[in-house]
Amino acid sequence: MRAVDIIIKKRDQQALTRQEIEFFIQGFSTGAIPDYQAAAFSMAVLLNGMTKGETTDLTLAMAHSGEMIDLTQVVPVAVDKHSTGGVGDKTTLVVAPIVAACGLPVGKMSGRGLGFSGGTLDKMDSIPGYRTDLSTDEFIKQLVEIGIVLTGQSADLAPADGKLYALRDVTGTVQSTPLIASSVMSKKIASGAQAIVLDVKLGLGAFMPDIDSARELAELMVSIAHIAGSKAVALLSDMNQPLGIAVGNALELKEAIRTLHGNGHADFHEHCIEIAAYMLFLGEIANTVEEARQLSAEKLEDGSAWRKFYALVAAQGGDTAYIESPERLPGANLQETISAPQSGYIVELNARTIAETVVALGGGRAKKGDQIDYGVGVEVLHNVGDHIATGEALFKVHASDAPSMAIASESLRSAFIVQKNSVPALPLFYDVITGS
Ligand code: URA
Repeated sequence: MRAVDIIIKKRDQQALTRQEIEFFIQGFSTGAIPDYQAAAFSMAVLLNGMTKGETTDLTLAMAHSGEMIDLTQVVPVAVDKHSTGGVGDKTTLVVAPIVAACGLPVGKMSGRGLGFSGGTLDKMDSIPGYRTDLSTDEFIKQLVEIGIVLTGQSADLAPADGKLYALRDVTGTVQSTPLIASSVMSKKIASGAQAIVLDVKLGLGAFMPDIDSARELAELMVSIAHIAGSKAVALLSDMNQPLGIAVGNALELKEAIRTLHGNGHADFHEHCIEIAAYMLFLGEIANTVEEARQLSAEKLEDGSAWRKFYALVAAQGGDTAYIESPERLPGANLQETISAPQSGYIVELNARTIAETVVALGGGRAKKGDQIDYGVGVEVLHNVGDHIATGEALFKVHASDAPSMAIASESLRSAFIVQKNSVPALPLFYDVITGS
């Protein structure tokens, strides 16, 4: 077999066999197949697509390119969640403690932010001392002892995906449904997930621009999970406007802490309850999703979700004084509000522009390895559909210096549209894909 023949076959719109896909991924992992051939392969897949069978074979080949974690003897059901990437998406920080507080252990391996999309690990890194580099043994020990882990992906987890994703990022090949599906699902399968809730975002601040493309991705991922022997549900959720209020690492952590204390923004609170409920349902802690919603809400109200979060931070070396007094977490020197220039209804709060503003403030990475400023960010004080009066504050910007404040203010002035006629609020969720 030769790599070039596999690339030509995909270029000519033919379906690849499992052997061809395994040969390619194995060769790429070991370095026998160079980056330029993997880049050509990715472009051929992006342009010509893959069948469901090919995508499943690609997923499994990438999952088996490194360590396969087996949690079957460790927890009753290894339940996981994954978001396809959003703006202001601090859901894991609230959902993992809720689910763990209900007695279902959650061992989560998360990623860092890249480009406009934020990453859970960066939010947790705002807590001094918090470790995100647990070994697999430490991961399993903590999962058994306290029922919650939130760490980085181990280096040997689906290494073929890590390598391919880095290449896709610089060759214009991220935006491909089979490549995204196989990338996400290979990591979930390798990390031992037996039940997975997929939060597939759609809209201005998401990879998937509309409901049709989000549904296609969701159905594909759910079907791959089923073929791999895992349970899965995908929720299609809105990402036209940021989720909740805060966009920026420490700001989002503070919002998550408020939510864990029962004082969260209504939309974000509801979003978390919904994701947690499906995890509890798949994990067989509740008989119906409605029962699981009630259980989740109870764990927020009675403080047990907060106590789980506290235990998590303590177990991973974080200084709990910072989460007890969140005002001690990193902040920014300057704060300014941006106000509405005219009264009317908010028709757009562009999540993408807001996220890019936060990256420009220093709160995100333009390229892998860039240092980030945990304290900067933007608070979004209204939602689409709200009425706003002239001069009323729309955004609160947290910047480290005057030049970046000026750039952010300029950029945020193009991030919203206010008009005379009323518009409905955006839905939180569009659909639930069960694949059955
Ligand atoms: N998230 C991933 O893990 N992979 C992709 O390809 C896109 C989003």
